[in-house]
Amino acid sequence: MASEAFNPFRMAQQQFDSIAEKLGLDDATRDLLRTPDREFHFSIPIRMDDGSFKVFRGFRVQHNDARGPCKGGIRFHPQETIDTVRALSMWMTWKTAVVDVPLGGGKGGVICDPHNLSQREQEALCRGWVRQIAENVGPFQDVPAPDVMTSSQHMIWMLDEYERMTGKKYPGFITGKPVGLGGSLGRTEATGYGLVYTLREALKELGINIADTSASVQGFGNVAQYAIDLYRSYGGKVVAVACWDQKEQKAFTYRKREGIDLKPLLAITNKYGEIDREKAAASGFDVLDGEAWLSQDVDVLIPAALENQINAANAATIGAKVKVIAEGANGPTTPEADSVIRERGIHVIPDFLANAGGVTCSYFEQVQCNMNYFWTRDEVLSKLDTKMTDAYYAVSDLANRRNLVLRDAAYMIAISRVAEACKMRGWV
Ligand code: GLU
Repeated sequence: MASEAFNPFRMAQQQFDSIAEKLGLDDATRDLLRTPDREFHFSIPIRMDDGSFKVFRGFRVQHNDARGPCKGGIRFHPQETIDTVRALSMWMTWKTAVVDVPLGGGKGGVICDPHNLSQREQEALCRGWVRQIAENVGPFQDVPAPDVMTSSQHMIWMLDEYERMTGKKYPGFITGKPVGLGGSLGRTEATGYGLVYTLREALKELGINIADTSASVQGFGNVAQYAIDLYRSYGGKVVAVACWDQKEQKAFTYRKREGIDLKPLLAITNKYGEIDREKAAASGFDVLDGEAWLSQDVDVLIPAALENQINAANAATIGAKVKVIAEGANGPTTPEADSVIRERGIHVIPDFLANAGGVTCSYFEQVQCNMNYFWTRDEVLSKLDTKMTDAYYAVSDLANRRNLVLRDAAYMIAISRVAEACKMRGWV
């Protein structure tokens, strides 16, 4: 989240500027791509359950649509800021470009805390968000999806509002819909599984057997849960999971040195991916500080929560054995921490590549909606595996050829593709 010390948009621009320099991009292209194309700020008044009215602030930022309609999630979070949404929209442009799907980048958000909103209030918020932005989003302009603290339920409320307003069926308005209502099988798993497909290939390249590795994970929401699921099915051992504790308003790390079983942990976790601390302690977990996940004696770190989690203040505490960081979150590592990590020679699979499985599957969802014919889960996941594996090797080959870290190589591929599209359209 943005704070005085950390501004995600500044970080996204800093990352862009350094690659634009390396690529020798002309000034107009830099100017165009370092700022979003369009942004919308609006108020969403809703009637609360107690009869009072409350006004929430909503955003949609469209960073770039040269390669196709803008694409990206909607986040519900109490600390949401316009600069967070700007950064996330820019990262979406690079994400869709690096996996080469015909989409641009956008992001939306509402400043709210779903913990304190009833289902009815959340529904009103979803419908209000759509009413305020309906003219400027849609299957051919900008296609929203779930993100932090939004789910398929929120997506279907939003779709329903859009279809009520237009009087027609537009399954392509939004992705991450429930299966059976235009959603794709495999979409829920897609981000976490996609991350592990890239991790599997990275370990292969490093000559490490995934079944001999252990991991520590930050976050226990949708991305982390499915990443853990697939990683364990490949034989990996997860020893620590960190997540937010709403009651204490801080994070804790839950550790089991012998390895964590997913099912029993899920049984004591709420829908926001928050583990019940007392129950975890009672079932044999060591309950540690929120940052302890970073310093564990593991081979793999998976930050799968929010931005700015590995930064100048804690990068030195990264466990001595860590060989790979697979970024499930958007923007979890600041450029300052990145330099420390580079010096240590840790292999980082950058966020907009590692977590691109979600949007890739959203693209598959659009394709299936357009044909009105839906694939099996195996078909979806095998196409996802191919796309993620190909994208990983395109990045890794460039990195090896030019002696770059994966983040820079991924940025070079993505930015070049987007810059090329803008040039061919005659924009710059
Ligand atoms: N919110 C997800 C992301 O950050 C998915 C976006 C989408 O499917 O459009 O990549």
